[in-house]
Amino acid sequence: MINLYKNAVLVDGYGGTPLEDALLAIENDTIIFAGKADKYEIPTGAQVIDVAGKTIIPGLIDCHIHMDLHGMANTNDENHVEDKLRSIRTAHNMRKTLHQGITTIRNAGSVNHIDFAVKAAIEQGWVEGPRIFTSGKIISMTAQGNDYFNGMYREADGPDEVRKAAREQLKAGADFLKVMATGAYMNPGGVPGAVQYGLNELEVIVDEAGKLGLHVAAHAHGTQGIINAAMAGVKTIEHGSFIDDRGIELMLEKNIYLVPTYVAGYRILENAKKSGVPGFMIEKNQGMRKVRAASIKKAIEAGIKVAFGSDAGTSYNCHGLNAMELILWVREGFMGPLQAICSGTRIAAEAIGVEDRIGTLEKGKLADFVIVEGDLSVSLDPLLDSVKAVYKEGKEISVLN
Ligand SMILES: [Zn+2]
Repeated sequence: MINLYKNAVLVDGYGGTPLEDALLAIENDTIIFAGKADKYEIPTGAQVIDVAGKTIIPGLIDCHIHMDLHGMANTNDENHVEDKLRSIRTAHNMRKTLHQGITTIRNAGSVNHIDFAVKAAIEQGWVEGPRIFTSGKIISMTAQGNDYFNGMYREADGPDEVRKAAREQLKAGADFLKVMATGAYMNPGGVPGAVQYGLNELEVIVDEAGKLGLHVAAHAHGTQGIINAAMAGVKTIEHGSFIDDRGIELMLEKNIYLVPTYVAGYRILENAKKSGVPGFMIEKNQGMRKVRAASIKKAIEAGIKVAFGSDAGTSYNCHGLNAMELILWVREGFMGPLQAICSGTRIAAEAIGVEDRIGTLEKGKLADFVIVEGDLSVSLDPLLDSVKAVYKEGKEISVLN
């Protein structure tokens, strides 16, 4: 079965000028043509869908979410929601995420392996949701604040324990490993600038993932933690708030991607006056806001590849609103809208190692795409308010209207 989407404006994920009078041809789950309509002969029997005036982009790939957190003002309140209910709520949130055009997510830490259950439910077709790559529990040294997210961390200290913790996540089905290289700002007592795992422990985790051809994502705000994670050979640095020249140099040398998750702090400050957001989160964020923006700018200017990650699930950072991260990058002047779409599609696919299958609109890739109303070369706001249809592997998820 061949479906043709004609009269489209095509944004293919490579960052060039959007292609007018374009055509996208899908056979079953795969793209067989994406380009100028006059370069393609329409086969007889193909179903033609006119999308005049609308833009087609590759399905968005969010490289950093927490699928079983619900955006509660105080994330500690999640501990009072029982795991079975949390799993069902997670399934609901994954459906919302997909309907908003996010066809793939990388889940960077979940409580009690809820992530594996919901991923299986989606893959078996019980519920709708994006393609999921997930880490299981976050591997962390014994640290103050970890209990704030009860069940989300697997504490382990020293190379032997860390190896065991890594193997446990891989045994449970982890697609990559998530590790704490520094402290965090979203728990009381966490010091974002402070080093956590040492190089020897990080290397063990990278080694265990590497045996299976998998990668490691390191949570790292502080300068030395970023350097340690880069030296150990992680694939992505999450947050990167206090990156210095040495960290930038190492990331460039080793082709490490930055996933800034800027919107997480933005949502906390935006909602600071509402009841429920813990004071320590507000205070730590106020101290970091400017330096985070400056670090992202500096990294981009230096040529580091930046990938889309929203940290969805954290305070007021609700699932489905993930694209706010890209919208903020444009508003803050980090990059232009078409470049931000690249970061949310092709570069995100590279960051999580799936660029051979998804991330662009071109022949041979899986047919994950989103139809949007509006001119995305001017603003990315339509990604939140004007998504018209979403397709995952060629299958229409939400109805085109
Ligand atoms: Zn996170």
